[in-house]
Parts: sequence; C-alpha cells; structure tokens
Amino acid sequence: MQKIIFLKYGELSTKKDNRNFFLKILHHNIQTVLPNVTIKYDFGRMFIMPTEAYFEEILDKLKKIFGIQEIVIGYISENREINNIANEINMLLKDKTFKTFKVEALRSDKNYEPNSMEIRKILGGLILKENPSLKVDLENPDIEINVEIRLKEVLIYFDQVKGIGGYPVSSLGKGLLMLSGGIDSPVAGFLAMKRGIKLEAIYFESPPHTSDEAKEKVKKLAQILALYNGELKLHIINFTAIQESIYKNVPHEYLITIMRRCMYRISAMVAKRKRISVIINGESIGQVASQTLKSMSVINEVVKIPVIRPVACFDKLEIIALAKKIGTYETSILPYEDCCTIFVPKHPVINPELSKCLEYETLFPYENLIYEAVKNMETIVVKPEKELEYQDYL
Ligand code: ATP
Ligand code: MG
Repeated sequence: MQKIIFLKYGELSTKKDNRNFFLKILHHNIQTVLPNVTIKYDFGRMFIMPTEAYFEEILDKLKKIFGIQEIVIGYISENREINNIANEINMLLKDKTFKTFKVEALRSDKNYEPNSMEIRKILGGLILKENPSLKVDLENPDIEINVEIRLKEVLIYFDQVKGIGGYPVSSLGKGLLMLSGGIDSPVAGFLAMKRGIKLEAIYFESPPHTSDEAKEKVKKLAQILALYNGELKLHIINFTAIQESIYKNVPHEYLITIMRRCMYRISAMVAKRKRISVIINGESIGQVASQTLKSMSVINEVVKIPVIRPVACFDKLEIIALAKKIGTYETSILPYEDCCTIFVPKHPVINPELSKCLEYETLFPYENLIYEAVKNMETIVVKPEKELEYQDYL
C-alpha cells in the first residue's frame, strides 16, 4: 500500500461538459504551488503523489487552493481482491485506537464483484474476525473505514480534511480588485477568487498625504491574497493631483462622490487595458455615505464594466470574521491613513444627485488628470506571503 493524498472536487463535479476545462486549471494551479509532486486525475478524483516527508507542507498548501472540496489522506493498492483489501485494512487499523467502526464502500468500477453492499458486509466480517473486541456502529462509529474500488486500484482511507471549495482561480476569468488598506476589500477579493476569478489589484495612493507605510500595508495584503490567487499584479495609481484638484474645486459635501467617480473611471480604463472583464470592490450597503444605494448608483454611472461587490450584503461583523479566517485582519487594522480618509468632509452627501456631479466635474480638468494618472501607473508583481499560517476557512 502506498500512502497518498487525493482530492474530491465537490462543486466541480456538477460541471458536465466543461469539467475537463475546470480540472485542467485546478491541476495547473496545484502544480504551480507544488512543482515537485506528480499529479494524476480523472473525472472523479485527483491524486497527488508526494514523498512522505513533505506530507504536512503539501496538505497545508492544498488547503488554500480553490476548487478542492475534500482532501483525503489514504492508501492505494493495485490488488483489488477482497481478502487482500481486508488484510490491508487490518494492518492499517493496528495503529489506531477505537472501539466501534463502520465500513463505507463505493464502486466506480461497476463490473467489480461483489457489489458495494456486499463489500461492506464482507469487509466488516473480516475485520471483526481479526479484531473480536470491536463492534460495528452504523450511526455513530469511532472510525469510518472507506473503501473505493476503481478500475485499476483500490483506495482505503479513514480521514479527510475539508478543502476550501469554490472554483479554481482563473477558471472564470480575471477581475480587477480595488484594494485599499481596509478590512473590506481584501475579503471581497477572497470571495471573488473563490468564484474562480483571478485577481489583479489597483491601489490609489496620494503621497505625501498618504505614507509609504500605507502602501506597504497594501502590498502586504496583496501578498496574503496571493496565497490563494498565485502571483498578483498590483497596479498603483498616483491619485494626488486628482484629489487635490477635487479638493480645491468641488463643494466639499461632494468630495467623496466625485473622487470615487474618478476612481471608478480609472479602474475601468485599467481593466480595459489589461483585458479584465469585471471590477471588484469592498463596498457594503449602508456602511458609509458613499455606500447608500443612491451614492452607489451615481458613482457606478461613470462605467459600463460590471462592478461586483461581494460583501455588499454582509454586515461589518461578518466581514471582520471572514478577514480573521483568511488572515488579512491583523494587517488591515494597522493604523495607516488611506487616501479616502484624508480628504473626508464633515458632511458628505448621502443622496448625491447626478446633475450636480456633472456640474461639479466641469470645474476641474478631470479627463486630463485621469489620463496622466493612468499613464504614470506603476505595476508590481506580488508573490505569495510565505510564513503565513493557514487558518481554517469554512
Ligand atoms: P475597506 O472597504 O477596504 O475596508 P474602507 O471601508 O475604508 O476600506 P471605503 O472608503 O469604504 O473603504 O471604500 C469602499 C471600497 O472602495 C473599498 O472597499 C475598496 O474596494 C475601494 N477603495 C477605497 N479606497 C481605495 C484605494 N485607496 N485604493 C483602491 N481601492 C479603494
Ligand atoms: Mg468599506
């Protein structure tokens, strides 16, 4: 028997015609983070053939790859004969302490005799014969012994760990995440990746009003997101001239509305250049004045590209809980200013009017400023953060 890790796909198995497309991407994503393992797969299972020494490290990495429902640590043998299977199980059980058990059997080779029901009974009997003090408990066993008969081999396993689920990153295309240093946008990015979207990120900075530390914090967040995304391109836009010009020319209650309209316009331009089909951000309905339904529609009005807001209907506590689970929270709460927080007016408008936005936008040359900002955009490729420990995400 060889110790092996194999994967169950869950949601992916519902994809009929293009399952192979999803599996190819999942295979590629796993091979990228685990270049030294051999991966084989069919429509039902994906097998990772590691050397035993790296078992824990491999498990840890697999837990961050979207598209995996269950990670199973098991054993594989080419000898599918029922007495041999019972012998192998009895050997493996020697290391375990338990009183009750249950056998589960699955036949993906329907020509194999005996059938699943009979396999359960026969194996149960042979296990009891070898270990007379044990008892069968179908309801609440201490240990579940799983046997899967495949075309050429048999799998035996006792343990499985929950994978992170979702679709493999990249399988649904690319999205541009508006990444601020806050709590919400990294969580929004995580949820988008979970739906198979490969992220690039855009960050607006306003030096000298925002510091290098603020930028480093965003890079750190990008590193954490890269654990799930693979390398992440971070586009950095110098927003100072735009923000100062808005501050000088626009009535202050509309500062944020106009500023966000400019951010949206720039994000849409960058997305188009990079052939990205959606913008993703961390807006949450009602959180601040710029996130009332009226504000969101007046701001959204400047772009045609779809804007996805994965945390729109989450409350702050839910977002924080998720940020903690995915490992971004501690970085997000570091106290560095953001370009939005610096120019915040005392009384931002809650129900902005489109006609006023259009009027105020004639007061400064936003088109030239936006063009310049995009022209001077800096892009860095952020690699995954190494040391971060995986936290269970359900
Ligand atoms: P976060 O939402 O990330 O916790 P926040 O609540 O302070 O930060 P808001 O000012 O409410 O952010 O902005 C809403 C969304 O707009 C953010 O979630 C983010 O997607 C985007 N955004 C805001 N500021 C920036 C920025 N400086 N760079 C990139 N995107 C930004
Ligand atoms: Mg927010």
